[in-house]
Amino acid sequence: MKRFNVAVLPGDGIGPEIVGEAIKVLNLIGTKFNAEFKLTEALVGGVSIDANGVPLTEEVLKLALGADAVLLGAVGGPKWEGLDYSIRPERALLALRKELGLFANVRPAKIYNDLIDASTLKPEVIEGVDLVVIRELTGGLYFGTPKGVELLADGTERGVNTMVYTTPEIERIARVGFEVARKRRKKLCSVDKANVLETTELWRKVVIRVANDYPDVELSHMYVDNCAMQLVRNPKQFDVIVTENTFGDILSDEASMLTGSIGMLPSASLGATKNRAMYEPIHGSAPDIAGKGIANPIATILSVAMMLKYSFDMEDASNVIENAVEKVLNKGIRTADIAKPGEKKASCAEMGAAVLKEIQG
Ligand code: NAD
Repeated sequence: MKRFNVAVLPGDGIGPEIVGEAIKVLNLIGTKFNAEFKLTEALVGGVSIDANGVPLTEEVLKLALGADAVLLGAVGGPKWEGLDYSIRPERALLALRKELGLFANVRPAKIYNDLIDASTLKPEVIEGVDLVVIRELTGGLYFGTPKGVELLADGTERGVNTMVYTTPEIERIARVGFEVARKRRKKLCSVDKANVLETTELWRKVVIRVANDYPDVELSHMYVDNCAMQLVRNPKQFDVIVTENTFGDILSDEASMLTGSIGMLPSASLGATKNRAMYEPIHGSAPDIAGKGIANPIATILSVAMMLKYSFDMEDASNVIENAVEKVLNKGIRTADIAKPGEKKASCAEMGAAVLKEIQG
């Protein structure tokens, strides 16, 4: 029997509601696939500030470092917005990413035919879209030095940020790109601005070199401005996109909005080894609907599916969850965020139960 330790950090707002449903799915998968998931729950974000004065305690960090994977709900909310940036709930995420060495953010954007109306784009443009954006998370423009704003002698100011990447940093994110593409349709598009930025010229050179180890994956290159345009013009052309931190921040938000349903989209942040990984929905803590029992748990349930695929090598189990979600949507079951006017709305618990029922078969 396979055994895995999972650190479960529900966080704030709708976090506990959606994570509660995702955990039920994980437990059922354990029974069906002869695996044991030891789940250890802990506070993170605003609820941890309330209980311990800090968004992430040493103890919880230790739990995350010792786990085989971390499942996170969401953090933040109006209650903690007035606090100093250094102890805001969001600091917990940054600290977890840093300490776990999570350098690759993997975000799928998939259109479900039953939800095609949720997108702002025409159905014929987005029908069948199923892509993944992989964003480098710890380098590039957001972290390079020198950075800052300085006062010049003439009284004006000068702001500086620096885009920096080393060969090993590019190589490891490129490998994540090729590996993910290998588990999908085997097409990788590396996005850069190699015609203008020397850093991304190096990016392209290294990606081409890494490609030698993946002859089964078709590699292409695209400039970031063109990619932003192509994502709206013809998103079906993409399978896996791999790109720099800032470019990825923008492109992954753009890609997720193709689907129009934020409550449906999971994500994974991956590090150097399979047990360095954090899985979470892309949305926040949705304080406007917290406690009402109406949040959509699908993004978190699909985050569990990603955990099974990327951390536990349980691809079959992952597919079972994805298929169950598809069937539930097929049957017309909708939480409020994806229901059309006049349609019956399922609660968070009802949506979770519907997915469980499909998995049970
Ligand atoms: P949000 O994603 O929480 O909510 C945006 C809108 O989408 C809201 O109307 C919300 O009700 C809806 N929504 C989000 N998830 C949903 C779900 N599962 N089901 C149904 N509807 C859903 O973004 P926001 O309102 O900008 O931020 C709220 C708080 O969350 C802030 O404190 C922010 O800092 C935090 N946040 C946290 C994360 C994270 O933990 N990774 C990410 C983004 C925002």
